[in-house]
Amino acid sequence: MIIVMKKGALPEQVQAVIGRISDLGYRAHVSQGAETTIIGVIGDERRVSENVFHMMSGVDTVVRVLKPFKLASREFHPDDTIVPVNGIRLGARSVAIIAGPCAVESRDQILESAWAVKEAGGHIFRAGAFKPRTSPYSFQGMGIEGLDLLAEVRQLTGLAIITEVMAPEQVPDVAATADILQIGTRNMQNYNLLHAVGASLKPALLKRGMMSTMEELLMSAEYILSHDNPHVILCERGIRTFERYTRNTLDISAVPVLKELTHLPVMIDPSHACGKAAWVNALSRAAIAAGADGLLIEAHPHPELALSDGPQSLTPEQLYDLVADVQQVAAAVGRDLV
Ligand code: PEP
Ligand code: MN
Repeated sequence: MIIVMKKGALPEQVQAVIGRISDLGYRAHVSQGAETTIIGVIGDERRVSENVFHMMSGVDTVVRVLKPFKLASREFHPDDTIVPVNGIRLGARSVAIIAGPCAVESRDQILESAWAVKEAGGHIFRAGAFKPRTSPYSFQGMGIEGLDLLAEVRQLTGLAIITEVMAPEQVPDVAATADILQIGTRNMQNYNLLHAVGASLKPALLKRGMMSTMEELLMSAEYILSHDNPHVILCERGIRTFERYTRNTLDISAVPVLKELTHLPVMIDPSHACGKAAWVNALSRAAIAAGADGLLIEAHPHPELALSDGPQSLTPEQLYDLVADVQQVAAAVGRDLV
């Protein structure tokens, strides 16, 4: 349920509504817009009637939110959420490009990758230290040693870092190094992990499960938001369909649909969506044209030597071209690059 206060409602009227909400055993979530204040009622609201709030002074309207996600919904928070990361405002007018290799493989590889991303015009550096591999016999990532190398990259290049966290017990170490915690497609419904990432209060990039609906994605975001961690970025990375030419199917409709349903920034990962470097540029342009707030791109200085996801990794030259192409599309839709 949301309670929309009248324009110019007094602070004590807002406080009275908040007090009534907590007296009834619910949690209040206040969203202060430019003109109006919206107060969300959090909890199982089926037991409370709208009339309880209708009659209170300063209240304009009371609306029952039928969607199962509340904090993530546009109704609760009409303005776009902006996630601040190292001076970059994710979700604002400027589109951000996150790029880097699938995995941290060695000190030389990661430093060469990071400088290449910086020179190509990327804004945030990505690389996995903990890798969720389909096969237990594939390279599993460098773990803590990989995090230490990412910390060095951050210090030397000044680039913000995003890296995946796979388990709740890894959250403290990953949060100490990374600016953004990535939750991978396979862990979108790992609720213990979502709780731990929420409690860390670090920005989180939540990837859509490869077989999950948008509503399930938003319910997972709700877990993080419920810890009073407002900094959640959603990422569409392709879903599983009957099509076999591409690794997954990029669901471009996720961009306008999520933008309507939620105030959270929406990013697109075209690399895992299509699985082939040659197709990444076209999907990136489509994503920005559709209104995405940024891209997550896999790029490797030597894709043929990559220990994971080489076929979908761009060379530094391809990344440079992508940044230039995306800039043109961004300008065509009234945006620019960070
Ligand atoms: C990745 O970003 O390298 C990754 C493993 O992504 P996903 O969880 O989307 O497969
Ligand atoms: Mn990958």
